[in-house]
Amino acid sequence: MNRDNPLELDGETMRRMGYRVVDLLVERIAGLDARPAWQGGDRDRLRAEVGETPPDEPADFDALVAHLADHVIPFAGSVDHPRFFAFIPSCPTWPGLLGDFLARGHSLFQGTWLESAGPSTLELLVLDWFKQWVGYPPGAAGLLTSGGSAANLDALVCARSALLDPDDDAVIYMSTEAHSSMERAARIVGFRSDQVRRIPTDDGFRLRLDALAAAITEDRSSGRRPFLVVANGGATSTGAVDPLRELAALAHRQSMWMHVDAAYGGFAVLTERGHRLLDGLGEADSVTLDPHKWLYQPFEAGCLLVRDGHRLGEAFHIMPDYLQDTVLREATDSDAGPDAREVNFADRGLQLTRDSRAIKIWLSLRTFGLDAFRQGIDHAMDLAAAAERRIAESETLEVLNPATLGVVCFRRSAERAASRSDSNSSAGAAGQPAEGPAPGGAPSEPLEERLERWNAELVARLSASGVGMISSTRLNGRYALRLCVLNHRSTWEDVERVLSFLESEPVV
Ligand SMILES: *Cc1c(COP(=O)(O)O)cnc(C)c1O
Repeated sequence: MNRDNPLELDGETMRRMGYRVVDLLVERIAGLDARPAWQGGDRDRLRAEVGETPPDEPADFDALVAHLADHVIPFAGSVDHPRFFAFIPSCPTWPGLLGDFLARGHSLFQGTWLESAGPSTLELLVLDWFKQWVGYPPGAAGLLTSGGSAANLDALVCARSALLDPDDDAVIYMSTEAHSSMERAARIVGFRSDQVRRIPTDDGFRLRLDALAAAITEDRSSGRRPFLVVANGGATSTGAVDPLRELAALAHRQSMWMHVDAAYGGFAVLTERGHRLLDGLGEADSVTLDPHKWLYQPFEAGCLLVRDGHRLGEAFHIMPDYLQDTVLREATDSDAGPDAREVNFADRGLQLTRDSRAIKIWLSLRTFGLDAFRQGIDHAMDLAAAAERRIAESETLEVLNPATLGVVCFRRSAERAASRSDSNSSAGAAGQPAEGPAPGGAPSEPLEERLERWNAELVARLSASGVGMISSTRLNGRYALRLCVLNHRSTWEDVERVLSFLESEPVV
């Protein structure tokens, strides 16, 4: 150890600092249930707390960690909280978190084989698991990414490289329910907004095949090049799964690429009902998965898989002079597919410097075994289904879209409360009559507007109460509450507490 290097620490100090952090994290997880699921903060106040420019002098590590733990980190959503049902919850396992630390702690650079043969082998192994799960052949290839957005972007670049000529007037099709990251990817890559067509959905929010076929025919007849269909393997708003098998067949008849954005829903294939729901996933040309969502991995972990694995390397390979030492040994067995020998993962996507994300995935999956993950995913789907039944039986709530892949959409309803108070004047105290003036609202406020106001208020009040958190969306323009149960730690009591709050909180 160099005593003159102020950035170096002795082993004893390093251990003590590490234990401090581990203690803090373990205490946090143990105490999650008693903490609020969300805490907001005022920027000026928080800014005053976190301080200004870094001082030149050292400070006490424990005091700094305590400061972060008290004044910074709590002002956030706890996405792993058992009653965090907003957006997409994420609940990493402890071995996964330690795997992340292990990878970072070894400063692994996983861009090239030369610099990380072992970790790259592990990534290839994890990708092989994922390939099997989605029903891909051995010739498929992929990479772990920072998340679903990055995977969707890489998929688009790969599809373009595989199918398009530079002056094609290409058209991308996706449903009105597709995730924004896909449209953003199109923007980044340079597609014009008129090259992205949003296709309407059916009453289950699934892309309508007839509408897609009509759009493709129309575009062909005006000289455009129908290029890519993006299907939802679990739409973010509703959990809807597009008709994957039919879409793949249609896309391939039309010489188009079919990509499935299964960022949050994809790992449901591990369960029987998820596998049924995602039928046809393996027919897609590429698939996006997010291990940091329903595979219980810490941020960041996304994944892109490409069915014809060679396409991925063709799309991204570049060899600059300063990396010439990393040139791969030629694969001798040309039939063995893209994973036959060495892989420079930098040649499969955006990043050169890459984390070794496979370590946390491997470590957590091996520690618990796959059945434990299946159980977590199944449990979440059970809770969402039970939530749907509970909402359907409620006097003040109504289901707007049934539970699908852990998501159920609903709202506080006026009509149900009103019809109830018609037949029984003592009930319906929590709701207002469907017609007539509402106290606090404009006398002529239309029903839909009033319901939106009520429901938006409920979302905010639930967060502010600390009890839990949900988010909202729009279904055919109508404001909807959205409960997303993915967390393996959530119990029925957690779901029930949140639903009871939404059911009985007074609204005017
Ligand atoms: C979450 C999500 C994304 C974006 O993934 P990130 O990991 O947040 O970048 C894309 N598509 C769908 C369907 C998602 O649910």
